[in-house]
Amino acid sequence: MSVTAPDGVATGAAPEAVLRWAYESFPRVVIVASFQAESSVLIDMASRIRPDVNVLTLDTGRLPQETYDMIDRVRDRYAIDVEVVSPDAGDLAEMVGGHGVNLFYRSPDLRRLCCDIRKSRPLARALHGYDAWVTGLRRQQAATRAQTPVAAPDREHPSLTKIAPLAAWSKDEVWAYIREHDVPFHPLYERGYTSIGCEPCTRATRAGEDERAGRWWWEQEGEVKECGLHWTGGAS
Ligand code: SF4
Repeated sequence: MSVTAPDGVATGAAPEAVLRWAYESFPRVVIVASFQAESSVLIDMASRIRPDVNVLTLDTGRLPQETYDMIDRVRDRYAIDVEVVSPDAGDLAEMVGGHGVNLFYRSPDLRRLCCDIRKSRPLARALHGYDAWVTGLRRQQAATRAQTPVAAPDREHPSLTKIAPLAAWSKDEVWAYIREHDVPFHPLYERGYTSIGCEPCTRATRAGEDERAGRWWWEQEGEVKECGLHWTGGAS
């Protein structure tokens, strides 16, 4: 379902207004949550707009325990269902059988294969039946995200609209919202993490490093720090 965002939404409305527009414009909207700070903010905002918020998350099978704890914490706090989506067992068995369980350390291509099987393919399957999905992308997170639109037809999932209500927000704005509204946040932020993904592929960052420097940290400078959910080689 394709709906053109009105000018105000496309060019800088408050995230709450973008979410309200999304719920008014699309019958079936889902928040795709990684349970990083941005997800927490979006779920909190959405829960203030309506009680029946759809949330789904990708359980790659390699998440840190703290992320699983966050899923339950958020579910309890907001009294919402969180759909936990797993990779296809056959895809997984073929990949692990062919390349081993820690294939991501061996080459960028194998890392992208793992992300495809554990993240991109399950997301594509899970989005069937929805008209729009909401993501926590922000333009300041990475050069690959600098052109992120607030709302646009999703090139990867053609019948859907992809909505990024926080696209124009800074990290400080995200954390100010979390503090003001006492929103639950992922405990790994308190251990120096600035971006949180799968356990074997994420480390804490050091002062002065990019926000996403801890993702796939072993890869060479210049390798794109994206898993394919939001970047497939062109502009986001
Ligand atoms: S982040 Fe690492 S473990 Fe997770 S899907 Fe990507 S390569 Fe696999």
